[in-house]
Amino acid sequence: MQGGMPFRVEAWIPIGDLGSVNVYAFTEGPTTVLVDSGMFSGKSVYTLLKGLRRFGVDPRSLERVVVTHYHVDHLTGAAILCEALGAELMLARGDLELLLHVGVEQYFRGALELLALAGTPRTVLEEIARSSPAVRVAEAYGAVAELSPKPLGEGDRIGMPGHGYYLVMETPGHTPGHIVLVSHGRRKVLLGDTVLPGITPHVSLHSLDSDPLGDYLSSLSRIAREMDGYQGLPGHGDPIKDVATRTRELIAHHVDRLGEIVNILGKIGKATAFEVAQRVRWRGAENWGSLPPLGKYLALGETLSHLRRLEVLGVVERLEAGGRLQWRLAVNSLDTSRIVRRLGVEALK
Ligand SMILES: [Zn+2]
Repeated sequence: MQGGMPFRVEAWIPIGDLGSVNVYAFTEGPTTVLVDSGMFSGKSVYTLLKGLRRFGVDPRSLERVVVTHYHVDHLTGAAILCEALGAELMLARGDLELLLHVGVEQYFRGALELLALAGTPRTVLEEIARSSPAVRVAEAYGAVAELSPKPLGEGDRIGMPGHGYYLVMETPGHTPGHIVLVSHGRRKVLLGDTVLPGITPHVSLHSLDSDPLGDYLSSLSRIAREMDGYQGLPGHGDPIKDVATRTRELIAHHVDRLGEIVNILGKIGKATAFEVAQRVRWRGAENWGSLPPLGKYLALGETLSHLRRLEVLGVVERLEAGGRLQWRLAVNSLDTSRIVRRLGVEALK
């Protein structure tokens, strides 16, 4: 084992610019546990198995697959692995609820209905509906459900061959039930997509009575508080030397974006989420029109989660008229720098 680290295998995935998802392998003697699993695709699982072999891990030693969250690139490869190798599957409790009681198609339909309410034109919705990787592998979610995954929640201990125990910590936000796995003794945390290097994890709104960005910022605050100096092993990209530092950068990013949206509403008055999203500066895109369909879907979800957070904080208010939702500043003063300072303090609560 390399310096007390689990092996990291990059399994191929066909999603945007990501290219691969990290699968971590803990192995000792005849027993292997994987964290996350790649995607329901021959090529994805093949690259994972080849990668394990390169580290001398025999895939037949696979005993358990532990999945950090519900997303297609982390969860659905397990349908093939567990079916073929008889391994046990464990999944975050909150995301397992989604899998069993909502299902990916209904979840995605709900998301599109919310985007329609948010003022997204039909042509954009149709582009988005055609591009979702989750819906393309809807049958894979059915196959995962048939494996009767075991739920994992806060404080559960998972034995990792050769590495003692990791503790489950619930970090909702990127998905409602996301978990990370922590070894306090080894000062390491397997992050899934809660904290990533180089990119900001996506946080979308799935229903108007939830506040996923509020949940996410609370999760980040907890990681920043409790994991100073811990090494982070993310779901995409290279290891993070100090997870607390990267986590504080992500909090600052969202505070900036909340401030940017306050400024936009200050300038244009009441607006739909679609109108706001078109004015936000999205990284890697020159303008709204240059975003691919998946990018537009993510940008709209992200705008909605920020508007909802501002609403919960009492900074904006939501209006409903003619089947459309609009938002406007709820405070009279346009002293946006004061509001943004307040958001920075609120974000760390
Ligand atoms: Zn994810």
